[in-house]
Amino acid sequence: MPANNPQILGKGHSFEDLLLDRASLISDLRMHLGRLGQSYLFVGPSGSGKFFAAKAMAKGILCPMGGCGVCGVCVSVEDASHPDCTVVTRVSSTLSVEEARAVVSAASIAPAVSAHRVIILPEAHLFERAAPVLLKTLEEATTSTIFLLSAESIPSNIVPLASRCVRIDVPLPKKQEVFSYLLGLGIEPSAAEVATSISPNRLDRAYAFAASTDAQRAISLWSSVIDRLSDNPAELAVLCGDLESTLPSNPTSRARTHKRNSAKLQLDKDGVSQVLSKDQEAQLIRAERRLRSDVIRAGLESILKSVVQKGGSGEVTSETVGGVEELILTASAQLKRNGNETVLIRALVFGLSSLFF
Ligand SMILES: [Zn+2]
Repeated sequence: MPANNPQILGKGHSFEDLLLDRASLISDLRMHLGRLGQSYLFVGPSGSGKFFAAKAMAKGILCPMGGCGVCGVCVSVEDASHPDCTVVTRVSSTLSVEEARAVVSAASIAPAVSAHRVIILPEAHLFERAAPVLLKTLEEATTSTIFLLSAESIPSNIVPLASRCVRIDVPLPKKQEVFSYLLGLGIEPSAAEVATSISPNRLDRAYAFAASTDAQRAISLWSSVIDRLSDNPAELAVLCGDLESTLPSNPTSRARTHKRNSAKLQLDKDGVSQVLSKDQEAQLIRAERRLRSDVIRAGLESILKSVVQKGGSGEVTSETVGGVEELILTASAQLKRNGNETVLIRALVFGLSSLFF
């Protein structure tokens, strides 16, 4: 279950689009395409776009126009239907030995329609026991087979594998590049703006936020907090409940728990240790917590924005604006410490109310 969704960047994305127009990456990859080696490893933090970089390279290798984005070759690389381009996916949290053996077989087949066969292996930092199986393949593969690996880091068990590859570092993109990327996916400019203010350098987090309808609903609700304040504790309690309901929460956790349980059964049947599914579980919980914090951070920013606006138009005093700023700072600090969200929202809403009533 790779975190990178191969469909996120759709059809029509050229070599340059996939690299988010980052000039140094474009020239780096063009140089390698000019004298193609056998194995490449794209290294970068989560959300840097290293998987897209690997895909750009695949288009660069297979497309007669060097990755135009629109020809039949590029489109089929994008939707994973090109006969000479394989994106290796895995079912559990690490690549299994069986999955690695399937890669070994695929690597030995001559390309069907192109001069090269391209095998993309995302998230190599999670290869663990599969790494030695792949190492042999990388060493023995025919020159027509090109391996494109990507990894967030190089743990000791993939060091031998990494040493066989040309390393290409993929830095985190700039805020403007993330913004353009979201627009290119058809995200509304207002949603893209909020998402990039929350996650200015990470494609995956910005996309998760922008694509979440919960997050969009949350922003409009949090923006209305000041207008909904009252001196009635019962009404404030309802407001707290509404704010809490905007956090991406229980329904998805339940679905994920269900998925997790099926994954666990699958893992056990294959004789793989349960520790793996616990890793996977922890990973999902972390991703959900990140999205919840992102929503709260965006919500806090939208409250501040609405109060500053009211201050500008003379609707509230500068003293009140200062008080709100202080409450927002306190809440942000609590969020950083992973504090209880219910307590945070309650303290914020009742604190705001005491400033206005
Ligand atoms: Zn093309």
